[in-house]
Amino acid sequence: MKKLRCAQCGKGTIRPVASPGRREWYKTMEVEVPADFAIPTCDRCGEEWLSVRQSQALDGVLETGYTAELVRLASQQLAKLAGAAVEQKRIEHLLGLSQGYLSHVKAGRHAPSPMLVAELVLLAKDPERRLKELEAFWKRRAA
Ligand SMILES: [Zn+2]
Repeated sequence: MKKLRCAQCGKGTIRPVASPGRREWYKTMEVEVPADFAIPTCDRCGEEWLSVRQSQALDGVLETGYTAELVRLASQQLAKLAGAAVEQKRIEHLLGLSQGYLSHVKAGRHAPSPMLVAELVLLAKDPERRLKELEAFWKRRAA
């Protein structure tokens, strides 16, 4: 293979690098790049050089990792809420979710949206207070 000179630093050589522990920002958070996913990287300055096709492939693996992380985070927050003796159907009602939806999320059958994960994080910080605020809010809207 022809040596590719890095256009960023002008001195390094671009080589495919596949290693564990690399993280990339994807949508709302950093996601781990699979250890076997090769990214053309400058051996001197570390600049990454992805083609359009490689970039699309990276987006695909990051989306998979992102979704798995959302499921993990939602389950973690739901466990916190269950630990605080909050009924799942009460949360579902206040967030406008169908009954049983959160069970599907916990089981990994529904990928939660980042918005749902964010709502669960905020609820789990102070469950009783946040839920009462939501109940009061929806009640006021109805009056
Ligand atoms: Zn370079």
